[in-house]
Amino acid sequence: MRERFWERFTLDELSVEEWEALCDGCGQCCLLKVEDEDSGDVAVLNVACELLDIGSCRCGDYANRFAKVPDCTQLTPERVDDFRWLPKSCAYRRVHEGRKLARWHPLICGDPQRVHRKGISVASFAVSQRDVPEDELDEHIIAILPIDS
Ligand code: SF4
Ligand code: SF4
Repeated sequence: MRERFWERFTLDELSVEEWEALCDGCGQCCLLKVEDEDSGDVAVLNVACELLDIGSCRCGDYANRFAKVPDCTQLTPERVDDFRWLPKSCAYRRVHEGRKLARWHPLICGDPQRVHRKGISVASFAVSQRDVPEDELDEHIIAILPIDS
């Protein structure tokens, strides 16, 4: 990977390896969201996708995620602007908006565990979709999107 690539290149100029390395591993984009049909509001839950390994906040089957979870959305350089539901802390949003990576980002601090210790990741509060009955999902709403506007 090129030195400090996140400061020197735009998202669409990154290699596949650089693109993947940019993810801070927070798992926030893997929390379930539900849309209120009447208001159009989108609520984010503390319930993580069934494939997320909550301890590590990594996808349990990244290579086959789209086949296993049809709702999983692929993040690409062209689509970052549409992803208002990504947290402000997300490294892709940061680079896209011309902001610096956080000091806890693995590429900055060299420690992939710091995102967990700082409480940025969902590891400390998320529960798995496997453990929550469908009719109880409403009880797990933690925010209404967009949460930064
Ligand atoms: S929110 Fe952004 S940085 Fe965090 S896991 Fe998702 S894509 Fe990676
Ligand atoms: S399939 Fe994997 S990457 Fe997609 S939302 Fe689920 S855990 Fe996240």
